[in-house]
Amino acid sequence: SKVLVTGATGFVGSWVARNLLEKGYSVRAAVRSASKVKYLTEYFNAYGDKFETIIVGDMSEDGAFDEAVKGVDGIEHIASPVHLHADDPQELIGPAVSGTLGILNSALRNNPTLKRVVITSSGAAVLEVLPEPKVFSELNWNHQAVRLVEELGRSAENMTKYRASKVLAETAAWDFVKAHEGEIGWDIAVIIPPYVFGPVIHEVASRQALNTSSAHLLGVLLTPSGSPNAMSTEALTTTGSSWIDVRDLAEAHTRALERAEAGGERMIVCVEPFVWQDWIDAAQSLSPPVTLPPQHQLAVGVPGGGKNAIHKIRFDTSKSARILGINYRSKEEPIRALLEDAVSKGW
Ligand code: NDP
Repeated sequence: SKVLVTGATGFVGSWVARNLLEKGYSVRAAVRSASKVKYLTEYFNAYGDKFETIIVGDMSEDGAFDEAVKGVDGIEHIASPVHLHADDPQELIGPAVSGTLGILNSALRNNPTLKRVVITSSGAAVLEVLPEPKVFSELNWNHQAVRLVEELGRSAENMTKYRASKVLAETAAWDFVKAHEGEIGWDIAVIIPPYVFGPVIHEVASRQALNTSSAHLLGVLLTPSGSPNAMSTEALTTTGSSWIDVRDLAEAHTRALERAEAGGERMIVCVEPFVWQDWIDAAQSLSPPVTLPPQHQLAVGVPGGGKNAIHKIRFDTSKSARILGINYRSKEEPIRALLEDAVSKGW
């Protein structure tokens, strides 16, 4: 069967396309700009006509996905703006929401045989910043980010603007499904990852062009301790998130398409919480180590400083364990892969 993958030129989407192809699916990648077709086509060359691309332009445009959705059995909607330099929150919210509504509307109009749409949301759509530690589940929604953006507009924190875009996009999807209940023969399943790390297989012209989560982790690892840009000891040992390897996230996307029980569910997938020092320690203790070129030096931070960290935000993953049953990779795998990428690609 054939699956439409949006965001296939990005970090997560490229892995979702690869996972599907490895499992024997045909993949149609919806690509924003023609300039990114060549790399993707070459990368997936071995799959012959099981891999195709379609140019959709900016997904904020009405009907962008009208052609792309035709004839596919499933859709993996991954595309969304992921950056932390939007001045106007609408730079993120606009495409995130209209891209999601756009693909659902195109499916409603143009694909009577579609079975399921899997949508990539984010821990950002679930968590709230609270004074006390909390375990968040699929019952929680980040109303806080939406409220802050409504109140503060451009002066909201950039992370808050991104979080609001993910809440509003996911809410729009659930509202759409409710509003069109009687008209659609398909359902949606929502995958909710926190931070995603791991090997990079999409086209990245330079370190500056790296996707946000990979850039963030690499920045922490390769900024020498004590240098002006290095994170403070305090930040390294008290701030972080939860994480999942991009390959496990791709597997979760495929299973969300395949498993009947995933229909109509939001599902949080993640391994464990971390503080940034934990990643430095994992990188420092790789055996055998990844040999870095002279311009790079691995950060040291405060070895072991994350061991007793209080993780204010934790996620309950029992639902995804039951429905998707992912066997998660441990920290060594994504950290080795990312460092090896940095060396081989000269980042
Ligand atoms: P990337 O920036 O690597 O990929 C984003 C993708 O979305 C790219 O393919 C990009 O296309 C596409 N896109 C963005 N805006 C538009 C637009 N206006 N029109 C058409 N296409 C667009 O990010 P990730 O792969 O990391 O993120 C993918 C998804 O996973 C997002 O939904 C994100 O919110 C979610 N996520 C990611 C996490 C992470 O840590 N990486 C954590 C939690 C959720 P182009 O290549 O043309 O720019």
